Amino acid sequence: MLILFGSYFFILGAIFGSFLSCLAWRLYREESAWPPSRCDACGRKLQWFENVPIIGFLLLKGRCASCHKKISWQYVAAEIFGGLLFSLAFFWFFKDPAYFYNILPSGKEWWQFALELFSLSVLFFVLIYDGRYYLVSVPITIGACLILFLLQLFLGVNWLLLIITAFIGGGFFLLQYLITKGKGIGVGDIYLGILLGFIFPDYLLLTLAIVISYFIGAISGLFLIAINKKKLSGVLPLGLFLSLGGMLTIFFGSQILSWYLGLL
Ligand SMILES: [Zn+2]
Repeated sequence: MLILFGSYFFILGAIFGSFLSCLAWRLYREESAWPPSRCDACGRKLQWFENVPIIGFLLLKGRCASCHKKISWQYVAAEIFGGLLFSLAFFWFFKDPAYFYNILPSGKEWWQFALELFSLSVLFFVLIYDGRYYLVSVPITIGACLILFLLQLFLGVNWLLLIITAFIGGGFFLLQYLITKGKGIGVGDIYLGILLGFIFPDYLLLTLAIVISYFIGAISGLFLIAINKKKLSGVLPLGLFLSLGGMLTIFFGSQILSWYLGLL
């Protein structure tokens, strides 16, 4: 039963990954979000089975059926990553099978899980968009903040706490923005800070997410400098690191914190 649900969430995640990477592409090119998909190169409309995540890519052997242009690996990577993300989230959330069977009929835990999936999806979108275009989509981020706010309220989180953590998250990046006069940090990153505040209405988890993000950023920066890909002044997409830091905190945040607090 658990495995069945796990595979179900893999498929759901792959569909979401496909949708999010398509959304990123169309948002960037300012196209509408809902016409049928076309080949980027020749404009041929995709048939229904070619839209099936992962399988469509395999059936086409990675090339468009009419113009034979290569389909970007990023699409299928997003689908696989989405599938893994959702099924991992499922197994992680329901680690204890007894817990799963206890809440199966109903319960707020499903809403808690939905909140987790939604947070992961938003972070995943940030990762794709910032990783690909070095941009943060402000309207999408604000929309996600609103939905997160409502979901958190519904799950009984104090509204004042939510406002405060959003304020801390946004303020942290606003401060850097003002100090570096917008050179080190973009306006979009301020919105991402607010987003993290709504995902983590908890001072310690929020701090941890930001610390992990900077840690990943610093390591990737040093690595890229070491292999001579970036100069010291080169821009790195901060949103990508914030997204990874947020995801890791969703999965391991509580464990890392209890380990760290145990050391003190
Ligand atoms: Zn084509």
